[in-house]
Amino acid sequence: MSRIITVKFGGTSLADASQIKKVAGIVKSNPERKCLVASAPGKRSKDDIKVTDLLYSCYSEFAKGDEYSGTLAKIRERYASIIRELGITFDISAEIDAIDQEMRKYPPADFLASRGEYLNSKIIAEFLGWPFVDAAEVIFFNDNGFLDEAKTFLTMNERLRELPCAVIPGFYGSMPDGSIKTFSRGGSDITGSIVARSVKADIYENWTDVSGMLSADPRIVDSPRVIEYITYTELRELSYMGASVLHEDAVFPVRAAGIPINIRNTNSPGDNGTLIAATLPPDVKRGAVTGIAGRKGFSSIRVEKSQMNGETGFGARLLYIFSRNGIPFEHCPTGIDTISVVVNSLMFEAKRDEILRGIKNELAPDFITIEKGLAMIAVVGEGMVSVKGVAAKIFTALAGAGVNIRMIDQGSDEMNIIIGVDEADYEKSINALYGAMIEH
Ligand code: ADP
Ligand code: ASP
Ligand code: MG
Repeated sequence: MSRIITVKFGGTSLADASQIKKVAGIVKSNPERKCLVASAPGKRSKDDIKVTDLLYSCYSEFAKGDEYSGTLAKIRERYASIIRELGITFDISAEIDAIDQEMRKYPPADFLASRGEYLNSKIIAEFLGWPFVDAAEVIFFNDNGFLDEAKTFLTMNERLRELPCAVIPGFYGSMPDGSIKTFSRGGSDITGSIVARSVKADIYENWTDVSGMLSADPRIVDSPRVIEYITYTELRELSYMGASVLHEDAVFPVRAAGIPINIRNTNSPGDNGTLIAATLPPDVKRGAVTGIAGRKGFSSIRVEKSQMNGETGFGARLLYIFSRNGIPFEHCPTGIDTISVVVNSLMFEAKRDEILRGIKNELAPDFITIEKGLAMIAVVGEGMVSVKGVAAKIFTALAGAGVNIRMIDQGSDEMNIIIGVDEADYEKSINALYGAMIEH
């Protein structure tokens, strides 16, 4: 049986006609590349605007009752220039007019946001001479907005196996009532993973603008080392903590079927990129730490109460106050008479009064202290469990850089150490940790 490779190309890989021509070259160079998932056109330069962002602006203008035709005209022009330079026949004006008509029925923002990948995929399908398969017909959410995996995998498999190849738009699917729903931003990575799983692909290639998963954020560290091999678990930790090259949820569909992911660079297709699988090839030698990632924008709510340790269920009741206000917690370090809950600052600020009232009334604490402006950094590596002195090296590196550590948490699987620092120290900390912890 011939092999199947599912390929997903991100926004920068499809930002203009010359990028799309590169993509066609990559796809046509290997006949095993049969299912292509496309993003909307991304930025052509640093100051450019992604089509998805233009679509969201268009929606907010429309929702406010403002004139949105100028923004829609910019979107039309982006596609018109791609179509002109590709030399294909495609009636973009008719497509944009149809979207405009649909908008008058006041559909949710998701409908409009999804049109970026919808139009780009139709154009790419035309250029490649491949069939187009609308994601709304093969990706299904249930009433709660979660992916209906069984229906999606089955329907997608039945549809795609009848075709020699196909272009499928990323980022969206349909709700039980037929309306369009998108994944969260960057969600075309999830679509690629779902397609790979549905067609039982041998590999899921995720093509982007860097030569793989890097051991630190390239916008902070100068030319960080490429991670050649990484496990699904390490990838999940790093992407969740901020390594934004792959959507944090993209690992799940392929991991369940043991399909490896290969992150590749459209602008440097000869590079091997990063291979992500359940285990590493036996001959691969790596250091204790595989990568470092982080994010800003956290707050810590510290609750103190004498003899808290004697009050059964104190922690559970505290976390329940956050969960009933719809706020997930990120970390929860505890002392004997203190417990801290680390949460996303924006989410917390929106519910601050309710949460503080709940803690005061229901838990009668001695003190509540709120620390804002925290950045969380994860140092991740499956090799850490068997190497002594990793934590000591981390603390020495940060002390050497003059960084005050505000929080420490070690994952129970001993494959990550999470450090909280002031947002102002974030970039300095990432550089210090990269210098000390990654072999380069
Ligand atoms: P695409 O449009 O192809 O989906 P993204 O912009 O979503 O691409 O992701 C690629 C970008 O992720 C890179 O250009 C890089 O700036 C950023 N990035 C952040 N952290 C990392 C990391 N650890 N490794 C690689 N890229 C990273
Ligand atoms: N175009 C969408 C976004 O900008 C989805 C994606 O690119 O993955 O978020
Ligand atoms: Mg992306």
